[in-house]
Amino acid sequence: MGFFLQRQRKLKTSTPKRDINEGIYTKCESCKEVIAVMQLSSNLEVCPTCGFHHRMTAKKRLESLIDPGSFKEINRRLHTLNPLNFPGYEEKIEGLMEANDLNEAVVTGIGKIAGESVAIGIMDSHFLMASMGSVVGEKVTRLIEVSISRRLPLIMVCASGGARMQEGIYSLMQMAKTSAALAKHNDAGLLYISVLTHPTMGGVTASFATLGDIIIAEKGASVGFAGRRVVEQTIKQKLPDHFQTAEFLQEKGLVDLVVSRQELKQTLAKLIDLHEGSEG
Ligand SMILES: [Zn+2]
Repeated sequence: MGFFLQRQRKLKTSTPKRDINEGIYTKCESCKEVIAVMQLSSNLEVCPTCGFHHRMTAKKRLESLIDPGSFKEINRRLHTLNPLNFPGYEEKIEGLMEANDLNEAVVTGIGKIAGESVAIGIMDSHFLMASMGSVVGEKVTRLIEVSISRRLPLIMVCASGGARMQEGIYSLMQMAKTSAALAKHNDAGLLYISVLTHPTMGGVTASFATLGDIIIAEKGASVGFAGRRVVEQTIKQKLPDHFQTAEFLQEKGLVDLVVSRQELKQTLAKLIDLHEGSEG
């Protein structure tokens, strides 16, 4: 039984439709300051007033991290089927593909960071909250496999609402599949850097997002498994204000490094360079 189709569809270069781009001005999600959309965009979607890191499209993220002209997308034609016959799922996916100029919630490929080739996957939370369905899991797994066969460092820029409920158990199976592929990547002695961006939750946190040799989080990113409310109701305790933030998780040892978006590319370049050096 197949879970996805191959489709002919290219990653277009136009900016996806999204609320924040609909006007000339927008409001910061955190401090509510009114900001010119252009200003926010040129500042990598980071609020110039309070520093809040807004969600970023995969295309923009690629531009901010990968050397110009060096990216080659792989497996872009994988397209999800509807294994559970979930009502309205196909229409929803079609609509999101159109609105976001994406085939799925993750873009994968090979590109260069400061001259060094890397296998990179970027999740886009504008596409169904970058939930992990069978195609997301398959694309991430194939990227890991390419990274092993070409002996390239692997970078996953994660963002996700968690498992994709419309695909039920097929979605949960992706956690095991991606984790097994990463175990092989680890056995091959290759570097895997996971970058956690706002928000990274659920099954993605509980699989490839937190299996990095080095785990970097963007400033202020919410990272967790179950949400705050669910945890509070379960343990019947009030949680600290900065619970499930990048900074809190660094304090607790889950995250190695918290960086601003402006520092991310140079941080990755430095880590890749150090690793290359150690390999001789
Ligand atoms: Zn702000």
